[in-house]
Amino acid sequence: MFNALLLDKEDERTVASVQPIDESRLADGDVTVRIEFSTLNYKDALAITGKAPVVRKFPMVPGIDFAGVVEHSAHADYKPGDLVVLNGWGAGETHWGGLAQKARVAGDHLIALPPKITTRQAMAVGTAGYTAMLCVQALAQHGVAPGDGDVLVTGANGGVGSFAVTILAKRGYRVIASTGRPEEAARLSQLGAADIVERTTLSAPGKPLQKERFAAAVDCVGSHTLANVCASLRYGGAVAACGLAQGMDFPATVAPFILRGVALLGVDSVYVPRPRRIAAWNAIADEIPVETIESVASTIALGETPDFAARLLRGEVKGRVIVDVNA
Ligand code: NDP
Repeated sequence: MFNALLLDKEDERTVASVQPIDESRLADGDVTVRIEFSTLNYKDALAITGKAPVVRKFPMVPGIDFAGVVEHSAHADYKPGDLVVLNGWGAGETHWGGLAQKARVAGDHLIALPPKITTRQAMAVGTAGYTAMLCVQALAQHGVAPGDGDVLVTGANGGVGSFAVTILAKRGYRVIASTGRPEEAARLSQLGAADIVERTTLSAPGKPLQKERFAAAVDCVGSHTLANVCASLRYGGAVAACGLAQGMDFPATVAPFILRGVALLGVDSVYVPRPRRIAAWNAIADEIPVETIESVASTIALGETPDFAARLLRGEVKGRVIVDVNA
């Protein structure tokens, strides 16, 4: 038996409770993992509260990421005792995810934890830090280099945004952080932001082409903000678009693309192929200081996740939330 947060539907409502589960109920998969830590992401909060149709079938164990120890393996790459991490691949959406003491998954969906980081630190980074790294790598691969000019990060105080600021600054980029929480400016400066802009300067409908302000951007926000970011990129600039905190719409024109050669680089963390995941996690281990990883996270117990999910959606949670599934 193991404990898991289980979601079920009752009269169209999503009901969440911690329950003991028999191991025989785990789905097929060639690797069984004893989970040490998971996290509470925005998507998990939507799933747990039922605020959006993240979960595709019930009953479901939510949790889009986890880190733990291999218990059984029929996969050539893993043996019992190996430390592994999983992000996405439909965990917590189409099959049981990380908010549990155990998971059985396809070994191809796991990656070995880089030796420099612990399972707890991996979940302090979580899908947010990993997505931020994918965004920065997309910009670098496009040819954006430190010294090219200012790089904007929108939604900078969020999980992805905070890690994007940290990684870009560590790599020597001059980072401009856009936030609706200017009272957190000192924290953003500490992470490496050179300047702060107020979120409202980007969130309202704007002109198709605006002053060329940024060499590149990481956008966590979408909607008018992403349209304004595209319109404010310098000739040949690029934006890595990963989020929709303002909205899923993209009310833009083609002007920045056809008149300034701007590139819109879509970033998906859920189904990104394995070699890019490995490259992202190795870069995280090499580049993000352990103190930074530890400082952005607080830890809660499995039973606290429903309450924290509701608080997260109300914007009351700061930093990353690690879930100790064994507490
Ligand atoms: P968080 O909730 O931690 O952060 C989102 C941030 O966006 C907030 O902190 C806030 O930043 C800003 N924001 C919130 N509401 C608005 C609004 N109405 N208008 C403008 N800005 C707003 O989420 P994450 O950082 O974990 O995720 C960021 C986005 O990326 C989400 O949309 C998430 O779904 C998406 N995502 C996508 C992934 C992918 O694979 N593509 C993977 C992970 C996340 P501030 O307070 O600084 O203004």
